[in-house]
Amino acid sequence: MTVNAKTDASVHTWRDLPAAQQPDYPDSKALRDVVAELESYPPLVFAGECDQLRERMAAVARGEAFLLQGGDCAEAFDAVSAEHIRNKLKTLLQMGAVLTYAGSVPVVKVGRIAGQYSKPRSKPTETRDGVTLPTYRGDSVNGFEFTPEARNPDPQRLKRMYQASASTLNLVRAFTTGGYADLRQVHAWNQDFVKNSPSGQRYEALAREIDRALNFMNACGVDPEEFKTVEFFSSHEALLLDYEGALTRTDSRSGKLYDVSGHMVWVGERTRQLDGAHIEFVSRIENPVGVKLGPTTTPEEALTLIDRIDPDRTPGRLTFITRMGADKIRDRLPTLVEKVAASGAQVAWVCDPMHGNTFEAASGHKTRRFDDVLDEVKGFFEVHKSLGTHPGGIHVELTGDDVTECVGGGDEIFVDDLHQRYETACDPRLNRSQSLDLAFLVAEMYRHQ
Ligand code: PEP
Ligand code: MN
Repeated sequence: MTVNAKTDASVHTWRDLPAAQQPDYPDSKALRDVVAELESYPPLVFAGECDQLRERMAAVARGEAFLLQGGDCAEAFDAVSAEHIRNKLKTLLQMGAVLTYAGSVPVVKVGRIAGQYSKPRSKPTETRDGVTLPTYRGDSVNGFEFTPEARNPDPQRLKRMYQASASTLNLVRAFTTGGYADLRQVHAWNQDFVKNSPSGQRYEALAREIDRALNFMNACGVDPEEFKTVEFFSSHEALLLDYEGALTRTDSRSGKLYDVSGHMVWVGERTRQLDGAHIEFVSRIENPVGVKLGPTTTPEEALTLIDRIDPDRTPGRLTFITRMGADKIRDRLPTLVEKVAASGAQVAWVCDPMHGNTFEAASGHKTRRFDDVLDEVKGFFEVHKSLGTHPGGIHVELTGDDVTECVGGGDEIFVDDLHQRYETACDPRLNRSQSLDLAFLVAEMYRHQ
């Protein structure tokens, strides 16, 4: 059983500190009422599941497993449909199969899903044709449409975020445990995809090998339960502290606090101030925690983050998600990894090859080059190889749909194609084919590291 967060004062220590990137709600009474209601809602995940993921991340930190973390930059309320969720999951399962089989490593699968509704922004306002309105901060805050009504932050949206997360997670749990994720379905995940796509065909060949291996094991009388379901976890950026605080509960078994809005939460590059509310918040919860580290991060900052978030040096507790940019990673990452390793802390190192490689195309679309994404991952592997540390995983923005948001990839998308299917509400995502290409290339890098 869990008890209400209201009874535990230590969850609210963040309230005394400056919190960056919070919405400016016009009606604070309305916000308080919503928070009180959220505090009475049931948990979306269980404390025991968060502990399980911390164990899995400990294996990543020790160099025994690889993290695949991926999903939308920003989930949208109107994309909570069986089709969208299944496509995303299918892509992640295919990537997971590729990495496990071709990389020969256990893969910890974590979605940027069922809670990724809030976005930090570089500018508080947006101006179009002389009209200035608050910037879009994710469906949990305001609407994407460029009207004063839509852009007004509305705390009622926090309840929709909870409901959207609950429906998504319900479907994810059904898909991953109800037979769909059985390894014998390894071909089925590819069915609508294989015919016309080079990456789909490459996947099909790998799926045939997996099938042969399964048949061999079956003939030997081995049919393990592990092949019938997939362990899959949820994660999102812990950005809106009113929401995360309201979903933080005391676990009655251990008396410890858990943010039950998702299994893993991370703090973004724009909110990781050492004396800020976000770092204070995550330092109080037991969930596995990620922190994004951009190119300006100093080793001292990284070491202080470890002291704040992982004072007991528990492997799996803290993951550093580096997002340096392809042109900077080889220069900036080595000192960080070296100093952290020298301190004795066992963090997991994960590469986000997306956020340091965004640029605006002439058409005005925000995009990323597949080659830059790949080059940052390559740099990440090179650095860890030269230091003898473990390249622990990748954190990517992707969708299961055939969008045209990033350029390049095996099924090449050109800058002039971007308008064809550009659907993201925020950052450009790899489409299914680009995601699979990336998984094959990362598996190769992992094998040769
Ligand atoms: C994100 O993950 O969508 C994001 C905004 O990342 P970062 O904090 O690294 O910029
Ligand atoms: Mn993003």
